[in-house]
Amino acid sequence: MRSQTPAPVMRADLGGMRVALVHANPWQTWRPVPPYGLYRLRTALEDSGAVVTIVDPYLERPEDEAEGHLTTRLRELAPDLVGFSLRVVDTLVPVETTDGADTSSDSTPLLRQIRGLVDAARRGAPDATFVVGGAAFPTAPQMLLDALGVDLGILGNGEAAVVDLAHRIRTSAPLSGVDGLVHRGCTLPVRPATAALATTTRRDPLFAPVFSAPVRTRTGCGMFCSYCTSSNTSGVNANYSLDLVLDEIGEVVDRSREIGVVGDIHFADEELNLPTEDHAVAVLQGIVDRGYAPDLRWSGYLNPRPFSDRLAELVKATNGFPEITVDSAVDSVLVANRRPVRRRHLDQLVDVLVRHEVTSVLNIMFGMPGETWETALETVAWARQVPEAVQVTWGVGVRILPGLPVSRIAAVEPQHVYAGAGPSFEEPSLYCPLGPPRAVGRRLNELLGGRPNVHGIPSGESIWKSTGVIAVAYRLVAAGVDVDTWVREVVDVASTAGPVSTRLLKSVDLIARWNDRPDLAEATPLSPAPAPPVHR
Ligand code: SF4
Repeated sequence: MRSQTPAPVMRADLGGMRVALVHANPWQTWRPVPPYGLYRLRTALEDSGAVVTIVDPYLERPEDEAEGHLTTRLRELAPDLVGFSLRVVDTLVPVETTDGADTSSDSTPLLRQIRGLVDAARRGAPDATFVVGGAAFPTAPQMLLDALGVDLGILGNGEAAVVDLAHRIRTSAPLSGVDGLVHRGCTLPVRPATAALATTTRRDPLFAPVFSAPVRTRTGCGMFCSYCTSSNTSGVNANYSLDLVLDEIGEVVDRSREIGVVGDIHFADEELNLPTEDHAVAVLQGIVDRGYAPDLRWSGYLNPRPFSDRLAELVKATNGFPEITVDSAVDSVLVANRRPVRRRHLDQLVDVLVRHEVTSVLNIMFGMPGETWETALETVAWARQVPEAVQVTWGVGVRILPGLPVSRIAAVEPQHVYAGAGPSFEEPSLYCPLGPPRAVGRRLNELLGGRPNVHGIPSGESIWKSTGVIAVAYRLVAAGVDVDTWVREVVDVASTAGPVSTRLLKSVDLIARWNDRPDLAEATPLSPAPAPPVHR
């Protein structure tokens, strides 16, 4: 499966057309991230003359005010077109802690809150055209359009499609023919759009790289893994312009240098090295050639193969932290889930990582379709022999979202379904043929214990119960807060957040400095202990 080169976004006459882009992401309350996809759409629309406003309801207001805030904002903006970014419809981590009932799940469905946002938007802009898109939309396009009560969606890169759609709305032209456009009720296959910006993405300055600054180097994935939302994009994928990717990285590095921090980037690609590693190698070589490497570190998802010595050298030279999707060390399980890797590749990968001293983490998922305790124990044995220089994390169970291949397997194996009745956006149903996922997690903790580089499932509360202070920090900085309020509502809260306190204080300090508020940073006490960013 080769990558295409995407066509550039064409301009249209949208002079003065009002567009609202809604970051429909309730998880902003706990894990605020920049709406990168919407920044790309806004850049494309503004380049054609549209007046674009991004509304991020669950960041701009506390959870219980988000819907009302969106209604108010849309009444003020009176948009002709409202786009919703479905970044996540579920948190997708089946078991985050060993505490809790065996058959329960920590996966958090978000679709009801997203529907609440769509309804709130209707109250604010009853005559506007609504369209949805985003990373979660390919999961089950028709089901999501039905669930949200929206008639149009865009599959794939939305930046050219939204310009074309806006122009057709403005000129009352037929909508059929817009690249990647899905109509509710029409089940004809739609090929995802790939056209990409011909400029760098214009970002809002507010977001510090607390969870790293996202940069995409490509779109789509050529693979079809059983549990993955990207498996429904027909294998369509394309590489972005190398120069533009490097220019975007350079902008993050420049800003980071200005405030004296290392530029933290997350490559927001499905897998940085699929279907080949050529583009990843070119991007990393470009980082070296442009002199960014000393002031940069990056993370990104990579497949275990291809992972050549050349790629490993460049990962090391650019301070990369690859998060590598291993899933299982047993070929029958990898085949059953259409994973593009086999056991022999894992052994080659570990050898390359160790020889090049690459800091990395291998992610394993126990309980995929085809798993038995025999295969799970084989993967346990493999994980236990991974050298200590390579980190290993693991999880249990697969979230059964409608539309994904795993949902068809779960439908005929209901005895392996927990925490819900089966495929659902609203119940946190899990598939796990090893037994109740949380109980399995406790047993695997014992089986994998004693290895310093293998990280088990912790006990106690999920860390995401303590991270609401990050969104508060953004709101207060945006409002021009005074130091006393910052200390009371941010520093005091972060300081008493238990095990994540150090990380939270570093995060809010970075938010203050990124937004040119040295007075707030000065009032934020930091521990010398390292607190690496969290990406998942
Ligand atoms: S290779 Fe990765 S991104 Fe692609 S379908 Fe599989 S899990 Fe998803």
